[in-house]
Amino acid sequence: MTAFWTEPDFDDHEMVHVVRDRASGLTAIIAVHSSHLGPGAGGTRFWHYADPAGALRDALRLSRGMSYKNAMAGLPMGGGKAVILADEARTKTPEMLAAFGDAVEALGGRYVTAEDVGMSEADMVALSERTAHVSGLPVTGENAAGGDPGPFTSYGIYLGILAAIRHKLGKDSAKGVHVAVQGVGSVGGGVARLLAKDGAKLTLADINEGAAHSLANELGANAVSADAIMTTPCDVLSPNALGAILDEESIAALDTAIIAGGANNQLARSFHGETVFKRDILYAPDYVINAGGIISVAWEYLARREGRVGSVAEVRSRIEQIPGRLEQIWQESAATNTSPDVVADRMAQELIGRG
Ligand code: NAD
Repeated sequence: MTAFWTEPDFDDHEMVHVVRDRASGLTAIIAVHSSHLGPGAGGTRFWHYADPAGALRDALRLSRGMSYKNAMAGLPMGGGKAVILADEARTKTPEMLAAFGDAVEALGGRYVTAEDVGMSEADMVALSERTAHVSGLPVTGENAAGGDPGPFTSYGIYLGILAAIRHKLGKDSAKGVHVAVQGVGSVGGGVARLLAKDGAKLTLADINEGAAHSLANELGANAVSADAIMTTPCDVLSPNALGAILDEESIAALDTAIIAGGANNQLARSFHGETVFKRDILYAPDYVINAGGIISVAWEYLARREGRVGSVAEVRSRIEQIPGRLEQIWQESAATNTSPDVVADRMAQELIGRG
């Protein structure tokens, strides 16, 4: 048996906590990568792993990612992530959630949880009955922070796209700028709607072709097949579906000046950031531009800790700092001839005291 700290994804994580509750059948891993800036915050993933080692790798990799993301979002939060190892049938019981909530509570706030793949808002409500260290709860009133992070993520991406247009194309608005949107779900659909209001020219694609066509009709946009979107000639490609879409082959075939979208882990391998940079395409590092959702979740939590209800206005004002961060990254990238993803990683490492 190999020790987890010899795993390639182990990066001096401060805590890797294994939770096992025989009565409910819960097995979970809670990892806190860094608490340099505050409690380790990041969602809980509920997933069936064919190999449990995959669960450990996910917890290690994703919690480190949250350290970087939270730091670059200007949050007083560190990076953490939890995975619950589901069985093949993905059985999720109230007892399991209760046991997981107790485990989070027992950590006394060192880890703060929220939704991730396989977990719902209702699950967060269930956890909140056992722990105070949970966020992403339903909104409690008009203009109150909380609820679905999707629209906040879309808002941050929209602002990031405007910043990229300003930086790369020298334009002050998206009017007439051609944006190709891959994925019109919660995030991509929101981005398309915001850009449509500004008069952008939109091309939309989704594997759910009906969804792409219906949004295109609503917004007066074009829809193309999911296969065609990555090679559509455009000013901005906005990936809002899957990760790992940027590899040697796809980057060579791109016909865009900018890549700015919310999908997590867009670079298939880390060196593909350099490939994009060499093609003179401006890249908005995914974890910087897509931080609107975590900003919402974090400020909802932080306000609650102060005994008050956070407001949408304060969340939006934090999200409005995303363009400034991107601009800083792009300037540093140009000044040092280094790809923006590498610059962002270095900035994040500095912020968490690991520069
Ligand atoms: P979603 O499930 O609502 O939407 C994803 C859409 O992408 C769906 O409509 C799906 O049909 C489509 N899609 C899947 N594969 C595709 C393909 N090959 N080509 C075109 N379309 C495809 O998910 P979402 O919440 O909108 O998240 C989208 C991306 O943004 C994900 O990578 C997610 O990890 C990331 N993200 C989301 C949030 C958030 O707040 N929801 C925050 C940060 C990052």
